[in-house]
Amino acid sequence: MQFIDLAAQYQHLKARIDKRIQNVLNHGQYIMGPEVQELEDKLAGYVGVKHAITCANGTDALTLAMMVLDIKEGDAVFCPTFTFFATAETIAFQKATPVFVDSDEATFNICPIDLEKRIRQTIAEGKLNPTAIVAVDLFGLPAHYSELERIAEKYNLKLIEDAAQGFGGSITNQQGSKRFAGSFGDIATTSFFPAKPLGCYGDGGAVFTNNDEYAELLKSLRAHGKGSDKYDNVRIGMNSRLDTIQAAILLEKLAEFPQELINRNKAAKNYENTLSSQYKTPQVPEGYISSWAQYTLVSDKRDAEMKKYKEQGIPTMIYYATCMHQQSVFEILNYTEGSFPVAEKLARSVFSLPMHPYLEQTKSRNISQVAVS
Ligand SMILES: *Cc1c(COP(=O)(O)O)cnc(C)c1O
Repeated sequence: MQFIDLAAQYQHLKARIDKRIQNVLNHGQYIMGPEVQELEDKLAGYVGVKHAITCANGTDALTLAMMVLDIKEGDAVFCPTFTFFATAETIAFQKATPVFVDSDEATFNICPIDLEKRIRQTIAEGKLNPTAIVAVDLFGLPAHYSELERIAEKYNLKLIEDAAQGFGGSITNQQGSKRFAGSFGDIATTSFFPAKPLGCYGDGGAVFTNNDEYAELLKSLRAHGKGSDKYDNVRIGMNSRLDTIQAAILLEKLAEFPQELINRNKAAKNYENTLSSQYKTPQVPEGYISSWAQYTLVSDKRDAEMKKYKEQGIPTMIYYATCMHQQSVFEILNYTEGSFPVAEKLARSVFSLPMHPYLEQTKSRNISQVAVS
């Protein structure tokens, strides 16, 4: 059994994907070929934003977003401590200072109450200039954006949505209006790393925004800061484009994505039905839909649990065993153990079960019977 079965997905989409790749080999426009623009239009349509700008990976997408927002040395950028490294890495890469925030125990996402506390602390200390918040849609569940947007506005901060794991998730508010992951905040990013909900066959990423100026800047920044043409360079940028072949693959995967999202939610429901008596299963707030990048359980007997699954041939993984404030590279920021009680507890007790759109119902039912009590 696979933790994420990319081969099963390929078998399902093989004829369509092979044809798309062959088309690229036939026309030969490997860099910025027509598939890239076609994909950007379809991504923007799916997410419901004006602009989708593809790039080389999800880490570059965050860096490009931060370049657009002019995040720099002396800035404080708030982000969850319980996340994948790139969220914090890209803040430090801009020479800004990441200010870590504890997690919400029910959703695993950034805790708005702790966020506001740490914004006030940073303002009171007066050493750094509070500039932005990076919220992460951890394991596929959108963060608490109504609260985060309120806080961003109150303290005049920019809001970046790191939707690397969240693509496909959504929030429907009480008025019935639905917004998809990638449409929150001032600018949003995603990753097409193969294991993400929408993945390609290599590295890829995208930035989403409704802001026309940001979109123009992003197109320049991803191509060496180009001006009116390729050899007119008006700013310092990066070389961060999505390969045409990856765009071609993603076009077929995106067409299938709505059905895959249904399948993921069915698999999650199946886990929920059979595991909730033995574990604290993931909570999805009212109106939210998760893209289930991971199906994550919490247990204070994690090692024993994982061993038991392994004996049954069921792979499990830990996302994440180390918080950002516990990473050796961030020792310099002088956080102490115990300063993020929820996140530290999660890092000690979470583990994830196999999750992908081709996880047959019968298999997820068998898994649930393995659970140790
Ligand atoms: C995967 C991931 C990234 C980085 O994406 P890459 O395409 O691997 O560079 C950033 N943030 C989060 C939360 C991720 O899970």
